[in-house]
Amino acid sequence: MEEKIKSVAERIKKSNKLTVLTGAGISKASGIPTFRGKDGLWNKYSPSELATYQAFSKNPKLVWSWYNYRRKIIKSAKPNAAHYAIYELEKIFKDNFTLITQNIDSLHRRAGNKNILELHGNIFQTKCLICDKVYFDDKIYEEEELPPRCRFCGGKTRPNVVWFGENLDRNILDAAMAASAQCDLFLCVGTSGVVQPAASLPKIAADIRAYVVEINVEYSGVSIYADEVIIAKAEEVLPRIVDLVKD
Ligand code: NAD
Repeated sequence: MEEKIKSVAERIKKSNKLTVLTGAGISKASGIPTFRGKDGLWNKYSPSELATYQAFSKNPKLVWSWYNYRRKIIKSAKPNAAHYAIYELEKIFKDNFTLITQNIDSLHRRAGNKNILELHGNIFQTKCLICDKVYFDDKIYEEEELPPRCRFCGGKTRPNVVWFGENLDRNILDAAMAASAQCDLFLCVGTSGVVQPAASLPKIAADIRAYVVEINVEYSGVSIYADEVIIAKAEEVLPRIVDLVKD
């Protein structure tokens, strides 16, 4: 393990363009449950039954309540050492750094990262179903009427997250694919690598012969594309790697 940590740090030091992909595993130490695994998100309902447009059309109030519940949990969470380590990497690589996340929890933003592609949206953003505007508005979650009304046009709103069966924002996906195809080091942290199209990004990087590193507590769908796999908790191993990069 020590050797792997040193070798990955050396690789990062020598690379010119770094792309990082994160998944729910990076936020686990912040107390936000992953989708897969024992600690389910909500006792009574399955996320896959609630996180769909069909569920929203059928019962918008229930779906909004579920997101209000999740938002509360996420708001009380704090970025952990792995989020801060990734912010350090952005400070080192500056414009040659892209962070792609599947997480909707805003913890990378709160850790300081600026260049972020949020593939699956952001739970703190609201999207209007009529005028299509996307915005942050903390007050909207205090509305009694569910779904809340858009503050611009009065239309019904939804959380700005990508539900099962929905397409990703084309511009964000294109930027993520470009960042994966143009980097020389691709770091993949805490993702099971089963949710598409995010799961194909490490393969894009591997295809152009970028050096692919995975950090996960277990082998995943990403592992077959990785040149180096570190089986460890992201919050423990990433700060150590970044300390060596800064040395
Ligand atoms: P996932 O739940 O499918 O997989 C999580 C992965 O993280 C697993 O491979 C697990 O082994 C690994 N992991 C767990 N603890 C870890 C740790 N401490 N360090 C490193 N790795 C660890 O997550 P996914 O691949 O991101 O896909 C799930 C989907 O659910 C995504 O679309 C995401 O948007 C959504 N989601 C987001 C959040 C969030 O925003 N925090 C939480 C749950 C689900």
